[in-house]
Amino acid sequence: MPTVRRKSMPVKTAPPAPKKTVEVPLSPSAAAAAAEENPWHQAMAQLDRAAAHMNIEPFILDRLRHPKRTLTVSIPVRMDDGTVKIFEGYRVHHNMDRGPAKGGIRYHPSVSLDEVKALAFWMTMKCAVVNLPYGGAKGGVVCNPKEMSIGEIERMTRRFTTEIASFIGPDKDIPAPDVNTNPQIMSWLMDTYSQIHGSSVPGVVTGKPVDIGGSLGRQEATGRGVFYDTRELATLERFDLRGQRVAIQGFGNVGGNAARIFQERGCRVVGVSDVGGGLYRASGLDVEAIWRWRQKHGSIEKYPDAEKVAADKFVEVPCDILIPAAMENTITKANAGKIQAKYIVEGANGPTTTEADEILAKRGIMVVPDILANAGGVTVSYFEWVQDIQAFFWSEKDVNAKLQDIIVKAMREVYEIHKREKVDMRLAAFILGLNRLAAAVRMRGLFP
Ligand code: NAD
Repeated sequence: MPTVRRKSMPVKTAPPAPKKTVEVPLSPSAAAAAAEENPWHQAMAQLDRAAAHMNIEPFILDRLRHPKRTLTVSIPVRMDDGTVKIFEGYRVHHNMDRGPAKGGIRYHPSVSLDEVKALAFWMTMKCAVVNLPYGGAKGGVVCNPKEMSIGEIERMTRRFTTEIASFIGPDKDIPAPDVNTNPQIMSWLMDTYSQIHGSSVPGVVTGKPVDIGGSLGRQEATGRGVFYDTRELATLERFDLRGQRVAIQGFGNVGGNAARIFQERGCRVVGVSDVGGGLYRASGLDVEAIWRWRQKHGSIEKYPDAEKVAADKFVEVPCDILIPAAMENTITKANAGKIQAKYIVEGANGPTTTEADEILAKRGIMVVPDILANAGGVTVSYFEWVQDIQAFFWSEKDVNAKLQDIIVKAMREVYEIHKREKVDMRLAAFILGLNRLAAAVRMRGLFP
């Protein structure tokens, strides 16, 4: 079995000025720690582990180890003070054997090409697991939108769209929101692409506002999908979801909406957190009050009516179900041994490292993997794309019912493999997705 390449990486230390920066190689253990944090290495380790359990032709696996296309662009933006700043952006098409590529756009200072490649790979797997006719893509811009004005974000978005315009399109690659991007940003993307095209093209992007071709139910879809997955898990594992203690890391689109839906459906949401820190109350938090606080103050950090928890200790709080819904690598070998939950349902992409997975498995904690658990977002994005292409729009009730059907079916299929093959849920989801992908590659054959 091919192993993951883990190059020993040079690291920059920062001695006191004015001495020069010294480059020193990492020790083997430090290099392993750095590799643990590289999402692409994590993704490839997951693929290798699944490949070892399956009988898939090596060339198919090799294709998945190499994204189909990667595009790096520079984005010049006139800032409000008159200077011009150059941002770096990426769009990766990981695989398109099952259909056009689909995946969000992230604005964050830690965006890197390896992160975007990993997120695009997980999109390929996710679309196969829930059986959507899509391949996987992802995009990102290295920036800190929290320090930018609305005008700067709009100009950056429009120029980024222009730079990737030949890469995207309703039958090629359809972006969507991800961390720090939202319906307004999707509107600018759609408008810019439409200006280039010469007519309105709503199907080029999903997660748009409803007034310009967005779908009802898209905003809450990922959080709602996390809930449907968890409710089906409770049925399969024979426990009553009502009254379970739920802790949710990240209070953005995924985490905030999941918190509201879990509380509305009778769960006790005991903890929520954002980048500034966490809130905990054993008897249950008032999620709606925290939601309103976030709307008003931009963060939940200073919400008064709860115990405070440091952001990096949040996953260790007492709970039955832990939902990481923030960023990659928040559950690592450093804290996996201290997690108190019985179930982890991954709202975020790549929150659990491979090393942490092993520790959790030994401790009997079940992880519902990202490529299944957070697929509600891309599922309703698919509905939005279908509605845009047909110019025929559905009721929210229809959207949620169709979402539930797809998520519950995928959950049952993965759980059945988990039981039958005696493998964990991540491996079971990979087996399901990889078999679908491999079938598509075989049927299409190799060009030329
Ligand atoms: P968002 O920008 O709306 O929210 C991110 C949240 O995470 C914020 O509350 C932020 O404060 C918090 N956060 C960031 N770093 C943190 C840290 N170290 N500790 C605690 N909280 C932290 O982003 P989102 O759209 O909710 O995405 C969250 C995750 O879900 C990402 O991994 C994303 O790829 C994944 N995801 C999103 C969607 C979607 O539809 N938006 C779909 C599938 C998966």
